[in-house]
Amino acid sequence: MRVQVSIVACFNCQHLLEQTLPILIGEVAAITLALEKITHACAKKIVLLSDYRTALLAIASERPSTNARILACRKSIPCKREILKVLVMQWIAAHCGIPGNEEADRLTRLGARQPQPLLPMTMDMAKEMARSAITERAEEKSRGECGGKNWAALLDPKRCLPLTLLRVVSMACFRLATGHDYLRHHLKRIVTESSDCVLCGVGEMTGDHIFACAAMADLITDRSYIGRAKLYWAVRNKMAEMPLLAY
Ligand SMILES: [Zn+2]
Repeated sequence: MRVQVSIVACFNCQHLLEQTLPILIGEVAAITLALEKITHACAKKIVLLSDYRTALLAIASERPSTNARILACRKSIPCKREILKVLVMQWIAAHCGIPGNEEADRLTRLGARQPQPLLPMTMDMAKEMARSAITERAEEKSRGECGGKNWAALLDPKRCLPLTLLRVVSMACFRLATGHDYLRHHLKRIVTESSDCVLCGVGEMTGDHIFACAAMADLITDRSYIGRAKLYWAVRNKMAEMPLLAY
C-alpha cells in the first residue's frame, strides 16, 4: 500500500509554512510531521513523495547540519523503520499533473495566506544543533589547516579512501597518500642522511618512486588500492630485512 506525499504537503500548507520560513525547511518540517503521523496502525509500507529534491537530499545526507528541523527529521526516521517494513522517500516531478501533488500545491498556496504558528524547539533539537555546529566548525578548521599539505588530497571525495578497505590496505594507501610512509624520503626528515632508494639506488625513495623502482619491477602491477598496498608492504619488508645502517 502506498501513502502519497499529498499527506505531507497538506500538513505543509496548513500548519508549517510561515511567511519567512524557507521552502526547504517548510518541506522538511512537513515530512517530519507526516512521519509523526505514521503509527503502528498505519500500513507497513510507506512511500513519501516529494517534489523538492533538496529537502530529500538534506534528510538523507550524513553531513552535519545546524538546522533543527532537518536534524529532527533525520532523527525520526530510524524510529519509524522499527515499525515499518518499508519506508521510502522518493522525488517526483512537480507541476506535471500528478493529482496528489497538484492538490498539495493548491493547499500550500491557500495555507501560506493563513496566520502561521511558531513551532517550539525541544532540548534535544537544541543539543543536536550545538553538536552539529561544533563538528562542522572543527571540520572546517581541519580543512583549512590541510591547505598545501600532501594529505589535502584526501579531502577530495573522489580521492579519499573508502571506509570499506581492509585495515592493512587502508593503512598502506593512507601512508602513500600523505607521505608519512616510512620510505627514505620520509625517513630523511627523521633519521637517515640520504633519501636515495635503498633498493635500486636510483632516485629519491618516495611513494611515487616505488611504482617505477627497478628492484620492484616484478611486483608492480596496478594502482588499485590492493595493488598499491601489496607493493608498499613488499618494499617495507625488504627495507626491514636490510642491515640497520643501510636502512
Ligand atoms: Zn628504487
